[in-house]
Amino acid sequence: MSRKDYSFFQSVEDYFDKAASSTNLPSGLLKQIKACNAVYQMRFPVKMGNDYHVIEAYRVQHSHHRLPTKGGIRYAMSVNQDEVMALAALMSYKCAIVDVPFGGAKGGVKINPKEYTPRQLQKITRRYTTELIRKNFIGPGIDVPAPDYGTGSREMAWILDTYQTFKNGEIDAAGCVTGKPVNQSGIQGRTEATGRGVFYGLKQCLSYADDMKKLGLTTGTEGKTMAIQGLGNVGYHTASISQKEGGVNLISVSEYEGAIYNKDGIDIDALMKHRKETGSIMDFPGSKNLKHRDLVLEVDCDILVPAALEQVIHGGNAKNVKAKIIAEAANGPITPDAEAILLDKGILILPDMYINAGGVTVSYFEWLKNLSHMRFGRMEKRFDSNAYSNLVDLVERTTGKQVLKKERLLLTKGADEVDLVRSGLEETMITSYGQIRDIWKRNKKVNDVRSAAFVSAIKKIGNDYVSLGIFP
Ligand code: GLU
Repeated sequence: MSRKDYSFFQSVEDYFDKAASSTNLPSGLLKQIKACNAVYQMRFPVKMGNDYHVIEAYRVQHSHHRLPTKGGIRYAMSVNQDEVMALAALMSYKCAIVDVPFGGAKGGVKINPKEYTPRQLQKITRRYTTELIRKNFIGPGIDVPAPDYGTGSREMAWILDTYQTFKNGEIDAAGCVTGKPVNQSGIQGRTEATGRGVFYGLKQCLSYADDMKKLGLTTGTEGKTMAIQGLGNVGYHTASISQKEGGVNLISVSEYEGAIYNKDGIDIDALMKHRKETGSIMDFPGSKNLKHRDLVLEVDCDILVPAALEQVIHGGNAKNVKAKIIAEAANGPITPDAEAILLDKGILILPDMYINAGGVTVSYFEWLKNLSHMRFGRMEKRFDSNAYSNLVDLVERTTGKQVLKKERLLLTKGADEVDLVRSGLEETMITSYGQIRDIWKRNKKVNDVRSAAFVSAIKKIGNDYVSLGIFP
């Protein structure tokens, strides 16, 4: 089946059904977990010069089992109701998997942001936010948007400002949106969070010797070959952190204009510089150009990272994929029929709802920061630092030896906000993978990581519905 024949929401439901059959939950409860609770479709006019553009936009709240609901806002021409519903559903499962206490939501505005000036984009964003306020679809305890494909911290700042204009005096207003600029109630480490989460998740997966043996791989990230589709926020940070902190050998990269390959490795920072100077990743010194950008998906590598849009690996190209592990940094990059082919080939797929959950995890930290009205680390940084210092003094006194100045600095450092964010994110990715892997290894009916992730999510959401007293 080619990707056009697949409803994205239907694919998510197919994956859900496959996994749900290995839980013992009653069918009524499963139906409730699966359903989209609220779909808000809007059209609003925005004056552009002498003309009016009527913009089509959505906000979908998939599940109200926990509030607020949470999920990004996408600006793209591909936006339609089916896509936003699918992405909102994935958010519910994603939040459950990483124990972020939110329901799932997603927004979409059907525009090509490259065709508008920043001023026009601001107008569209403010109007969209106003529509959300009007229908009570935004608020720190209601529904909290964030960046997604085509949006970033700039748009989030506009959303916050619009919200505050209407909700003057609301003390927790800053928590109405996450992914904001750090100087506007954002949090350190949010921009890189999804990519960093992908790296931590991969590192954890690669640490299990028996799983790696089955794939013919050694443990650890060092020297593993990687191909990445898409150098947006998620793709770029995944590449950069995997290369710098994990020693990964990045051999192939694709972007809108094409794909390149170099078996000896592509220096991601040098490539970004080249793209800035020439406007393209093509003809990067030392690398060869691939014939077509989608060939990045078919490169022989250890780890393939689709980090662009959904349904890029489908029935038509799945058989050509040669990677041993696929990390779904994008949401929904593999259609169910493609997945069957890939699993048959013995490929390990780390599903979107786990591997790209770093973004929403750090969004949760940002929201908590907004509600506490204080940055992380402010209370304990100096206290910890002094305590460590006393300890080092004691060691020095009792041993009669002095540690080096460099070592003292390292040993006595109190945690800054970014240290705590990274630590919380790493802890989340490790713990969640443990839970998923446990289901994958112990439940005889579960044969792949995506189904295990779904089972983990379904059970947690199911428990929430039961404790709410909605289901017996
Ligand atoms: N758009 C991101 C995602 O798909 C982040 C959502 C959020 O932080 O709420 O997971």
